[in-house]
Amino acid sequence: SPATPYIGRFAPSPTGPLHFGSLATAVASYLDARHYHGQWLLRMEDIDPPREMAGAADLILQQLEIHALHWDSKVLFQSTRSDAYRETLKQLEADGLIYRCHCSRQQLKERGGLHPRRCTYTGNPDKPHALRLAVADESEITYTDLFQGQQHQHIKQEVGDFVLHRKDGLFAYQLAVVLDDAFQGVNHVIRGSDLLDSTARQIYLQQLLGVASPQYGHLPVAVDTAGNKLSKQNMAPPVERTTPTLNLWVAMQWLGMTPPQALQQATPGELITWAIPHWDRKAVPGLIQQLAP
Ligand code: GLU
Repeated sequence: SPATPYIGRFAPSPTGPLHFGSLATAVASYLDARHYHGQWLLRMEDIDPPREMAGAADLILQQLEIHALHWDSKVLFQSTRSDAYRETLKQLEADGLIYRCHCSRQQLKERGGLHPRRCTYTGNPDKPHALRLAVADESEITYTDLFQGQQHQHIKQEVGDFVLHRKDGLFAYQLAVVLDDAFQGVNHVIRGSDLLDSTARQIYLQQLLGVASPQYGHLPVAVDTAGNKLSKQNMAPPVERTTPTLNLWVAMQWLGMTPPQALQQATPGELITWAIPHWDRKAVPGLIQQLAP
């Protein structure tokens, strides 16, 4: 039978402009998709307004365009997907697979973060609560990551019943990401290793919902010369908008590629065109790597 066409995606949260680490992630996910003649979709994960920055979504789209990372189809905004998320929660509730949790952060901490399933809360059940997935005892997930190799997690023992709808009324990332990857037909997810630990939960949820699991590839974590992780939380600077070719160059080197010197003055589009056939998953380095823009 003919192979399933590759569908990849980049799924930034609009909490700020792209920094070097997130640009490198975008480049890798783009090159992997185009190398395998795939589509590359863009999803804006705007489901956490308190963490978002006004204008960040537009900035990110501009940054991608400046770097010749052109996406297919329309951008999917998670903020438009509430009905689908709610529908799934209803279904899981009808199946007895989720339950209300009124526990405070402190109570959870006292129990080592693992939720004991039945909360002892006896007050008004409508008071603000989270919805947790009742994870089965048999919840061992094994998968092979494209870059990090064999992975293994026992959800029940290592993570416990995880939250699908937050106490503050927001949908949880784990729920939204699984539903939207399935909705968009995504079958390849190339993203940062900060999400490696979430992947088993996502596979567990996919199996529960009867949708296919994508192939996952988690890139190294980008650290600066002092060894600090490049992240918005660490105030990593946004990528310099006047030097897109250089930015792409550094990102590609970081991903194990060696563009020819002759392309140093090329346009971003020319550099990307060179990189697509030269993309090599095996050249991507290990779990942590210094990225000095
Ligand atoms: N929105 C997430 C982030 O920016 C990424 C989600 C994903 O790639 O699964 O960290």
